[in-house]
Amino acid sequence: MKITKVDCHVLLDPGYDIAATSSAQDDIVVEIHTDEGISGIGESDLNPWIARACILAPGTHTMGLGLAEMLIGQNPLDVEALWQKLYVGSAMNGRRGAVIHAMGALDMALHDLRGKARGRPCYELLGGARRQSITPYASLQPEVSSFREYRESIVQWAVRAQKLGFRAAKAEITPCGPYAHKGLHASHEEMTEVIGAIRRAVGPDFILMVDVQYAFPDADTCLKATRRWADFDLFFMETPLPPDDLDGYARLAHEQTIPIAAGEWLATRFEFLDLMDRGKVRVVQPDVGRVGGLTEAKRVCDLAEQRNLTIVPHLWKSGISIAAAAHLAVTTLNCAFIEFLPSELCESALRKDLVFDELRMVDGVVPLPTRPGLGVELNRDALERFREAAERVSSPRVAV
Ligand SMILES: [Mg+2]
Repeated sequence: MKITKVDCHVLLDPGYDIAATSSAQDDIVVEIHTDEGISGIGESDLNPWIARACILAPGTHTMGLGLAEMLIGQNPLDVEALWQKLYVGSAMNGRRGAVIHAMGALDMALHDLRGKARGRPCYELLGGARRQSITPYASLQPEVSSFREYRESIVQWAVRAQKLGFRAAKAEITPCGPYAHKGLHASHEEMTEVIGAIRRAVGPDFILMVDVQYAFPDADTCLKATRRWADFDLFFMETPLPPDDLDGYARLAHEQTIPIAAGEWLATRFEFLDLMDRGKVRVVQPDVGRVGGLTEAKRVCDLAEQRNLTIVPHLWKSGISIAAAAHLAVTTLNCAFIEFLPSELCESALRKDLVFDELRMVDGVVPLPTRPGLGVELNRDALERFREAAERVSSPRVAV
């Protein structure tokens, strides 16, 4: 079998808001085609126009190539060997960041393709099942522009998640810091007040996590602002500090009791080694696309297991990434939860409509996937609608 073509779909929700700090309104979806008529699909979470350039650009240096040109003519079933070929052949393009995030979409598509070619779900070819079901948690991020609306919505959404059968939810507590968008602003005391309100609404037995999305500039500020949060029995606090402040992360691990989670933006296992061994986080959050695909995400999970750390994959895209994270979780003993984005609890058209998938929550858990590959099918009508919307903004917004 040989790879004959790589399609890159740059997608945009027609209702996108340029003021939103959101990964849910655009997407890069790749399709890898073969001479035997079998295709695989993947996606990743980065600027999709940049991702397309990383994939489709030509290169003239043997270690500065575009990703697609290295794949054409190759056997798609050699997934791990192709990962290494892409990593070495694009080394001059950065070895991290966008080029690895784009590689992640291709690697995801290759795993999908191999599963379909062999007639088996991806997880069976990734080491096999080490658990019988996956526990999802609901991510809650209301799109509102005042603190009052935000406080009301997030409490209501947490209660709704509980009623839908979730055993856990993560509240995106973002009214301050770089993710405070659409004019939303609140003090550290008000953040504490919101978490307290959610905990009271869901009761003591519901598992609650918070994501503050880089809200605190340094460890001192974080320690002061979160002094009372230990009372809320949080499963973890996600990304409290800027991602480069690994010494600050290590200080938090040492000086307060809430487990710290991070890793959503990282590329490759090498960045995760720094986060685990220097940053001392207790919950490791590879995003399957961004880290470099299922191949690399699995390596991160193995490294975390050796260190007795918990894995909770990050995702904020469509059902393609949800499926990839589910297959990863099945093969990972130390994976406590996967982030799950049910359409009842999100406002993104792209996330609601892009794919037909098989994963459903039953009694608070997601049963193992059974379809070959990732088990996800593109909704071609929706794909076309989002592709056309992206084309309308492709012209440069800055004068050149
Ligand atoms: Mg996050």
